[in-house]
Amino acid sequence: MKVCKFGGTSVANAEQVAKIVDIVLADPSRRIVVVSAPGKRTKSDAKVTDLLIACAELALADKDCESALAAIVERYAEIQRDLGLPVGITAEIEKDLRFRLAGDKSHRGIFMDCMKAAGEDNSAKLVAQAFQSRGARAVYVNPHDAGMYLTSDYGNAQLLDESYQYLAKTLRDHEELVIFPGFFGYTKDGKVATFPRGGSDITGSILAAAVKADVYENFTDVDSVYPVDPRLVPEVKSGIAAMTYREMRELSYAGFGVFHDEAVIPAVKAGVPINVRNTNRPEEPGTMIVQSRRVLAGSVVGIASDDGFCNIFVDKYMMNREVGFGRHLLQILEWEGVSYEHMPSGIDNVSVVIRDRNFSPECERRVVERIKRDLNPDAVLVERGYALVMVVGEGLYYTVGMASKATRALSDAGVNIEMMNQGSSEISMMFGVKAEQRAKAVQALYKAFF
Ligand code: ASP
Repeated sequence: MKVCKFGGTSVANAEQVAKIVDIVLADPSRRIVVVSAPGKRTKSDAKVTDLLIACAELALADKDCESALAAIVERYAEIQRDLGLPVGITAEIEKDLRFRLAGDKSHRGIFMDCMKAAGEDNSAKLVAQAFQSRGARAVYVNPHDAGMYLTSDYGNAQLLDESYQYLAKTLRDHEELVIFPGFFGYTKDGKVATFPRGGSDITGSILAAAVKADVYENFTDVDSVYPVDPRLVPEVKSGIAAMTYREMRELSYAGFGVFHDEAVIPAVKAGVPINVRNTNRPEEPGTMIVQSRRVLAGSVVGIASDDGFCNIFVDKYMMNREVGFGRHLLQILEWEGVSYEHMPSGIDNVSVVIRDRNFSPECERRVVERIKRDLNPDAVLVERGYALVMVVGEGLYYTVGMASKATRALSDAGVNIEMMNQGSSEISMMFGVKAEQRAKAVQALYKAFF
């Protein structure tokens, strides 16, 4: 059995939805279809999820949302008309949106998630009708009815483990083709909760794990995963045929936009291979992400990069002799609810790399004050505007000289390395550089390794 997930561009208009129907019906083992909300039709277009968020903001501010609502309804109406589906579905979608808009606004997160989830929910209902209109036995399945239970971290929810048993029971033996909305589930007390943005990938991976699928096909709008972001290195031609879960996890964490980083884990745990494919060119084999693969010594699978990081640098003479220093430093971040990404350290100093978005200026002020007071450092410095560049490959583990090759490439390109860290897994090297040197760094590393 295959679980297929189709991203926002694959449901952006009627032509794309028709491709989904063709792809799924061409292979009877494709039994479960997860869909996103309609995405962008053109580069300058808006995603339905963003329209829903804007509409929810208006409602929360007690402002008129009629034209915002009309724009959302029109996105679905266009697909319905162009596919020749009954007009009733558009009326139902409008009714559903009005119902959500009229809901309780006393808890911002609950209201917002309920609005955001409407994108995927109505998309799945519409896509189910598209299948039915082609004579297929397809049915929309609601995540609550299927037993998809999440934590109540609205906008950032996680699956409750018990869901796997319910999902397996409700989905595995479904006779009809299951059309399942991505991105959201329900809390135990029946509230809608969403995964982080881009979270339909996570839904697909969870369902694939629950039913122990033979493969999780993740359909998007590129032929395969590229070893480097083509916007930074336009000359990159061929994609990656196969990589391991660990490689994908490292790459997607650092800005590989194709696949959500949290979506790797459920498939890994269940040992389900992931196949990233293109809705627009289904004949292409795409990229396989698997447990293990044969690797050539010295080979790098990809170079990823992301900006929006900051660094808390703490210096204290003889830090290495002070028992509990690191724990106390991290404790201060824990009190503030800030998670860290990397922690390269020296004998007398340590850096904690965190995402800018998790570290507001007020939070920074409190953290710095507390570090000064509790740890009595010689210096504490917060620097923003960092990018991380990751060189990833199982082959790094076996090969001598990879770090020197990377650092030479960076120095030849005049890139100043602010931080370096080799992941304990030894399949990645991380370089921290100033955000404005990110593109140059990636280009230099690509030239060196590919
Ligand atoms: N529609 C949601 C978003 O734009 C989730 C997804 O597409 O995966 O973030």
